[in-house]
Amino acid sequence: MNAASGEQMIKVENLSKKYKENSKLALDDVSFELQKGEFAALLGPNGAGKTTLINVISGVVVRDSGNVSIAGYNIDQNRVEMKTAIGIVPQEIAVDNFFTVREILNLQSGYYGMRNNSDYIAYIAERLSLADKMNSVVRSLSGGMKRRLLIAKALLHKPKILILDEPTAGVDINLRHDLYRFVKEMNGEGMTILLTTHYLEEAEELCSRILLIDEGRLIADKPKKEFLKMAGDFLIVKLSVNFDMSKIIDSSMIRENKGINKILEVPKNKIPELISSLNQIKEKIDDLNISSPGVEELFVRLTEKGGRN
Ligand code: ADP
Repeated sequence: MNAASGEQMIKVENLSKKYKENSKLALDDVSFELQKGEFAALLGPNGAGKTTLINVISGVVVRDSGNVSIAGYNIDQNRVEMKTAIGIVPQEIAVDNFFTVREILNLQSGYYGMRNNSDYIAYIAERLSLADKMNSVVRSLSGGMKRRLLIAKALLHKPKILILDEPTAGVDINLRHDLYRFVKEMNGEGMTILLTTHYLEEAEELCSRILLIDEGRLIADKPKKEFLKMAGDFLIVKLSVNFDMSKIIDSSMIRENKGINKILEVPKNKIPELISSLNQIKEKIDDLNISSPGVEELFVRLTEKGGRN
């Protein structure tokens, strides 16, 4: 899984974009490269520029400056080749309700000039567990089935790169795990994948690379393991206690002190001190969990305004 081959699939150089209606840059000098077989997560708070970046890469939104090449094709000079190299799974479910699944998939194949694509359509439908819905009209499908259909649509022309914009938003946990398995398999077969997600554990579970964008700027771009090391030498302590933690520990270590559920960020060398402080209130503690920081904790640290980094 995640075997990057050194063949460049996405290259973005110094990309900037400002929407007319907006005074600040939606993308501010963004550069990165993805190699064949990489599985990258594009993370960032709302309004950070993720959709704009994906839309510029896929040729839907026009950039102000910078360069994009996809599978070696320049976005300006080789639009057809570039579009053929990418499959996009959009966030919005926008498929024609009155067609059947088979009709939608046939139309999509035709759009890419692929006639006689029925074997591949059947293969993709089977892998996405859509096979028994082929004759159903789209409006009768559940939300989860519609999402599978969107993914199938994106794959029919056998793209080298799959871009997924929040594929599991609002999707139940079973389907989410089904989709994880499927995209992992596609990645294992060599497909390069760029995924935006609000579920940070999704990025942690699936991806080999983390791109973090905030206010239009790429503020981290690292292999996941290195990204997690950026956490440095601290641990996350979560505890349920009805007590004002600032009374017994240094406030610089407190991230959440409201309500009963507290979150602390504690340097490893301060853990013994923390434990003796907690000893003073041990009768009040209902739950205690100490763990290494994950993508979620780093996301908060790196994107919080006026943060400690
Ligand atoms: P994200 O996908 O990370 O939530 P977006 O790319 O949608 O972020 O937005 C980045 C910035 O660009 C935000 O400030 C947003 O308000 C602005 N923006 C996005 N789309 C448009 C648009 N069509 N017109 C004007 N401003 C936009």
